[in-house]
Amino acid sequence: MSAEFKGRTALVTGGSRGIGRAVCVALAQDGANVAINYRSNEAAANETARLVEEAGGQALVVQADVSQPNEVDELVADVERILGPVDLLVNNAGVFDYVSHAETTLEIWQRTLDNNLTSAYLVTWAVKDSMLERDFGRIVNMSSISALRPRPNSIAYAASKAGLIGLTKSLAEAVADKNLRVNGIAPGLIETDIIADVDQAALDTIIQATPMKRIGTPEEIAELATFLLSERSRFMTGQTLVASGGRVMLP
Ligand code: NAP
Repeated sequence: MSAEFKGRTALVTGGSRGIGRAVCVALAQDGANVAINYRSNEAAANETARLVEEAGGQALVVQADVSQPNEVDELVADVERILGPVDLLVNNAGVFDYVSHAETTLEIWQRTLDNNLTSAYLVTWAVKDSMLERDFGRIVNMSSISALRPRPNSIAYAASKAGLIGLTKSLAEAVADKNLRVNGIAPGLIETDIIADVDQAALDTIIQATPMKRIGTPEEIAELATFLLSERSRFMTGQTLVASGGRVMLP
C-alpha cells in the first residue's frame, strides 16, 4: 500500500469482475479514486465499489458498453464531472469465445474486435486530449498471450489482442514526449469467469504446458497494472509485459 495515486482519477473498463475488479482494488489501495465501468453486471460492479471504498478510495460505478462511441462519450463525461479528468486508464473490458475456425462467423469476428480492440481506441481517444493538455497520462491495455502464440480455438480473440499490442506501441511512440505512457499486459490463463466455457480437459492441457503448473490470479495481474501506471515504471512505454507462469517466454 502506498499513496502513489493519491489525487489521481482512474478509469477501469470492465471493472465489475475478474482482473478489472482486482485492478480497481489495487488502485484504491494506492490512493486513487476509481471509476468502475461495467456493461451489464450491476451487482458485481457495486461489489467492486464496496471493495474500493473498503480500501480507502472513492468509487464511481458507471454503466456503458465501451464498444459503442456514444456510450463511451457519456462514460467519460460522467467520470470527468464527478471524479475529475482521467489520469490513469486501464482498457481491460473484453470478451472471449472458445470456437473452432469452422464456427468463427463474421458476427463473432466483429463482436470480438469491437469489444476488445475498438473499445480501447474509443476510450483512449476520449481521454487522450485532456491527458495531452495536462501533460500527464498513464494507459494500460489488457492484451493476452493469445496475441503471441497460436490460438486455433479463439482466432478472432487472438487477432483482437494482437491489435492491442500494435495500438500500445504506436500510440506510445506518438505521445512519448508529452508525459503520456502507454503499456500493456499479456496474461496467460487467469482464474476468472471468462474461462468458464473452456472445458476442463483444455484447461488441464494448458496447465500442464505451463512451466509453473498453475493458473494465475487476478491480483497477480493487478500488481503489474499498478506497476505500469506508477512512477516505478517511469522509463517504460510501448511495452507489453507477459505474465503466464512461463507459458510464453520472450527473447
Ligand atoms: P471477466 O471476468 O469475464 O470480466 C470481463 C469484464 O469485461 C466484465 O467486467 C464485463 O462487464 C466487462 N465487459 C465486457 N465487455 C464489455 C463492454 N463492451 N463494455 C463494458 N464492459 C465490458 O474477464 P477477465 O478474465 O477478468 O478479463 C479481463 C481482461 O483480461 C479481458 O480483456 C481479457 O481478454 C483479458 N485476459 C483474460 C485472461 C484470463 O485467462 N482470464 C487471460 C488473458 C487476458 P460485466 O460484468 O458487466 O459483464
